[in-house]
Amino acid sequence: MEDSVKKENGTDRKNRIVIPGCGGFIGSHILRRLLTKTEFFVTGIDRSSSRITDLLGHSRLNFIEADIYSDSENLRNIISTSSVVISLAALCNPSLYTSIPVEVIESNFVKPYQLIQLCSENNVWLIHFSTCEVYGKTKAALFSDGSCNGLRDSGAFNEDTSQMIVGPVSAQRWCYAVAKQLYERALFAWGSENRLKYTIIRPFNFIGPDMDYIPGIDGEGTPRVLACFMKALLTKTPLKLVDGGMSRRSFTYIDDAVDAIVAVLKHPDASRNQIFNIGNPANELSIKELAHLMISIYKDLYGAGENGLTVENVSSREFYGAGYEDCDRRIPDISNALRQLGWHPETNLEIALRKTVQAYVNKYSGF
Ligand code: NAD
Ligand code: UDP
Repeated sequence: MEDSVKKENGTDRKNRIVIPGCGGFIGSHILRRLLTKTEFFVTGIDRSSSRITDLLGHSRLNFIEADIYSDSENLRNIISTSSVVISLAALCNPSLYTSIPVEVIESNFVKPYQLIQLCSENNVWLIHFSTCEVYGKTKAALFSDGSCNGLRDSGAFNEDTSQMIVGPVSAQRWCYAVAKQLYERALFAWGSENRLKYTIIRPFNFIGPDMDYIPGIDGEGTPRVLACFMKALLTKTPLKLVDGGMSRRSFTYIDDAVDAIVAVLKHPDASRNQIFNIGNPANELSIKELAHLMISIYKDLYGAGENGLTVENVSSREFYGAGYEDCDRRIPDISNALRQLGWHPETNLEIALRKTVQAYVNKYSGF
């Protein structure tokens, strides 16, 4: 990472943003928007540039292909000459929570802790990507009949009032949620002592083009559900429903999510030391319903092919191994983002899926 801070004449610190993880799914979409629709200069750091090859020569991008923690002096140098860090670099794929939990904890808590210290020392605003998974399960999940045993449960997670409910330590799935939650608590602590300006983003299942790799083509292992289902559609194999696909998620189109980040950047005072759920409560459905919706969209766009398109059930133990537990349901309460930023999502699930399915087919049809 040596000599990597590009000196743009006359660009003062307030126009400079650092984005660790700018080559990932969310980072690549944010980067593209910032370079095409704003005047910011961006220093982007990622181990991979495969999603952003078209942006690499941009005059307002200084891209460093490296592990962000490999050269702490250069990281300090980059952050001290910027005004904002948008922190996205992390391991965040559920199949990793049970297979490499130590690395998951390190990448979501231990290593990024230095970003807090660096931003604090240099008076830099840290916009941190946490996760909706910090909420864990709903209260209803604690009762096998789903009754909540008389507890009130609106179903929507609220930043200020919802409880955070996770399973035992042996259920390793929760290592990611708890690492992210402790990081949020660290941000809150530094902020409450007036030592840091921060904003926490809790994404609710963003989807869109370039989301995850397709196993066997440009990656190995198990990606998130959208890419698992796309692989099944592209290879005409059954879409696997983990434990019957009864869990529910609220899927959010990436363009809406990027709008939210742009709104945060435009409203620094309203965003100061805030937590924002960023999600689309209108797009909630079960994973089984998602599978059938994706099949029907795919059939509508491309036909069914010889073998047709089907689903099959698989146990979570078989699919993810021991230590997996699921979040039963996630609906965001997005009133804080609406109140502070004027933001609300606009893309319904059918449109979001059509765009995403088409983008995947275009990208992978040659393989
Ligand atoms: P992603 O895996 O697509 O992107 C993460 C990027 O970080 C990758 O490009 C990876 O190469 C990079 N990276 C990881 N560690 C690095 C390191 N040490 N040095 C350099 N680069 C490194 O994930 P994403 O979906 O874009 O998620 C980004 C952030 O948002 C993560 O913090 C994640 O926890 C959070 N999040 C995302 C979602 C979602 O719906 N996509 C949901 C909840 C939380
Ligand atoms: N899932 C599934 N089939 C798959 C992949 C995932 O049924 O091929 C389920 C998974 O068990 C979870 C949901 O889909 O209930 C969402 O999984 P994802 O990996 O997208 O991440 P999560 O929302 O759990 O963080």
